[in-house]
Amino acid sequence: MKIIGKLLTAVFFVFGVLFIIGSVNNPNPGRTFVTGVVLLVICLALGFFSFRKTPAPLSNDQNITYKIDIPANVSMDAMKCQACGGTLSPKDVAMVAGAPVVTCPFCHSTYQLTEDPKW
Ligand SMILES: [Zn+2]
Repeated sequence: MKIIGKLLTAVFFVFGVLFIIGSVNNPNPGRTFVTGVVLLVICLALGFFSFRKTPAPLSNDQNITYKIDIPANVSMDAMKCQACGGTLSPKDVAMVAGAPVVTCPFCHSTYQLTEDPKW
């Protein structure tokens, strides 16, 4: 399947380049040029899917560890929303860019979880 993807990528690339080169000497270059660009875009999309490497498992593991660790810490205390005082559950805390972010299910406010000194 990946070999077919690579072959198609090469074919679309060659045709895309040919169309763009062809559009230079074409009396009505607009449509030919657009066709070439579309072919190159398809080539890029195919290339992205067939040549990309599988995501590094390390980063996935880290994400999962964060998601498990932080709610486990937080669930020791009953947390309350800073905006409306509603009770928050651990599943309302998500890691965004390495920082725990709370999304309140009651008032839908989103804010970073600041570390409470008493933990
Ligand atoms: Zn709230």
